[in-house]
Amino acid sequence: MRKPLIAGNWKMFKTTAEAKDFAESFKKLYVSSDIQVAVCAPFTQLKTLKEAFQGTDIKVGAQNMHFAEEGAYTGEISAAMLKEIGVDYCIIGHSERRQFFAETNDTVNKKLHKAFSTGIVPIMCVGESLEERDAEAAFEVVKSQMAAGLKDITAEQAQSLVIAYEPVWAIGTGRTASPEQANEMCGFIRDIIEELYDDDVADKIVIQYGGSVKSSNAADIMNMEEIDGALVGGASLVPEEFIQIVNF
Ligand code: PGA
Repeated sequence: MRKPLIAGNWKMFKTTAEAKDFAESFKKLYVSSDIQVAVCAPFTQLKTLKEAFQGTDIKVGAQNMHFAEEGAYTGEISAAMLKEIGVDYCIIGHSERRQFFAETNDTVNKKLHKAFSTGIVPIMCVGESLEERDAEAAFEVVKSQMAAGLKDITAEQAQSLVIAYEPVWAIGTGRTASPEQANEMCGFIRDIIEELYDDDVADKIVIQYGGSVKSSNAADIMNMEEIDGALVGGASLVPEEFIQIVNF
């Protein structure tokens, strides 16, 4: 049985003081269950969150990392730096990073290798744009993102991978994919994993949906067979809203 993961993606929101406030409120509302919960925060808030969530099973994730071990990469953060403060997950290849920060399938692949070798669980984002969906290229686009992103990733590594299917047209737009559309693509992703590896890996891998998930649509999405949780942007910023998604 796969353990679903509901992860907040704060993007570039919240100062340290605000992160502390969130953590204190969220902890009071949170009851441990068979759903894994994580908050992916800006780099400067990760240590604060790790400390605040100590003694709970709420995990903490980063939103990006560099693929090099170390080096002259001004402004970058390495996997080892994240690991040192106990970061559990790292979002890799979010569409905003592909769009605004020149992230490619190749950098995604390099970052996946680095995350695995450092012991950080990658949340690899894939998803098509509106033009690609309208041109009926969604499945092809996702398939090529998967194949290139997972190049030379072993079956053993792939088992612990999290994939987030995030159609770009549904991110921050209030326009969610229908539960059926999301389920269809998540099932397709699982089939690709089976093709690339085997049915054991495909069975184990956690596949989330992301894009305008909120408390009012969380249950419809999460109850779909192929969907193992959600990557939640805007609705993860408010404890009272995020907890309702977690408790869908
Ligand atoms: P959203 O963002 O929930 O605000 O649409 C999701 C994401 O970008 O991960």
